Amino acid sequence: MKTYKIAAIPGDGIGAEVISAGVEVLNILAERQGSFTFHFDHFDWGGDYYIKHGRMMPDDGRDQIKDHDAILFGSAGHPKIPDHVTLWGLRLAICQPFDQYANVRPTRVLPGITSPLRHVNDKELDWVIVRENSEGEYAGVGGRVHQGSPLEAATDVAMFTRAGVERIMRFAFKLAQSRPRKRLTVVTKSNAQRHAMVMWDEIAVEIAKEFPDVTWDKMLVDAMTMRMVMKPQSLDTMIATNLHADILSDLAAALAGSLGIAPTANINPERSFPSMFEPIHGSAFDIMGKGVANPVGTFWSAVMLLEHLGEKSAADRLMKAIVRVTADGRFHTPDLGGTARTVDVTAAVIDALQDSNV
Ligand code: NAD
Ligand code: MN
Repeated sequence: MKTYKIAAIPGDGIGAEVISAGVEVLNILAERQGSFTFHFDHFDWGGDYYIKHGRMMPDDGRDQIKDHDAILFGSAGHPKIPDHVTLWGLRLAICQPFDQYANVRPTRVLPGITSPLRHVNDKELDWVIVRENSEGEYAGVGGRVHQGSPLEAATDVAMFTRAGVERIMRFAFKLAQSRPRKRLTVVTKSNAQRHAMVMWDEIAVEIAKEFPDVTWDKMLVDAMTMRMVMKPQSLDTMIATNLHADILSDLAAALAGSLGIAPTANINPERSFPSMFEPIHGSAFDIMGKGVANPVGTFWSAVMLLEHLGEKSAADRLMKAIVRVTADGRFHTPDLGGTARTVDVTAAVIDALQDSNV
């Protein structure tokens, strides 16, 4: 029987709470499928590790996980450590060297969940946001001089390469092509940012020629926020830079009901390194340790992990179990206006997985 080796990195805050729920659900699912098993290796990297060892993960951390079939990640972010230290020390320290350049973020209004947008139902908000995940505004290029003096200066340089933009653009067109509506919206800010964003626009025109059956259009990112709210049904697949898509996807998650249900895949399409799956949300300092974190974002990320492994029927079964649970208000956590706890939602998904109709 096939065994998938998964690196589980819960990280900090509610990351730990939702990843243990995710591991539990994936193991039950594998039992139910009967055709594969999971072997999870657990890594205690993150903020507490940093406090003990002065770094978020060991020097050879990436070597320890580079041969796994996938990574299931929680969150990096600790109340006692600056956010840029935790993020760059763990999540970006994996994403960037593993060249997980395609960040994929599906958004739907799941059954039973109410969008803050009036009258919007699941068919009217069914999106995938593709976020460039290896360069751009988060390339890490820049520096500080004269620190602490009145002359102090700082730069963060947005670095866009033609190769980087072409590969993510092609990925987005291909993804749009695989969806029923075959529609892509390319988001930039090429009026104010007149160099790299203009290059994006030009590359979009070039790559579009390879996909004549995909209908595509262009939006400036500020106007895009309005379109997402006012005309959600006019959008399907979207592509934007690292920063723009980071912001748009939090908006998308909120429009679909909660940040707590939104999933992400950090994909290395060439499979030269493992891909990483994680809920969109962070460590949620305000609710950590309270047992009320919504685990649905992690479960949905596990669906994406299964799809990446080629386990389509297992992925479909888990998604079916998730929507059966979201449809029932008794299993809504406080972020969705309910009173359920993480363990209640997890138990409900496990129950659903054991039902022969799922
Ligand atoms: P956050 O996503 O942690 O929280 C934003 C809000 O959403 C909070 O009110 C929180 O309670 C709520 N929320 C998030 N996930 C939820 C869930 N599953 N269930 C219920 N409610 C949920 O964002 P933040 O407050 O900006 O960041 C906190 C820390 O997390 C920071 O250190 C930040 O850098 C880090 N962070 C890490 C990642 C990552 O590692 N992928 C992503 C985002 C933020
Ligand atoms: Mn974000």
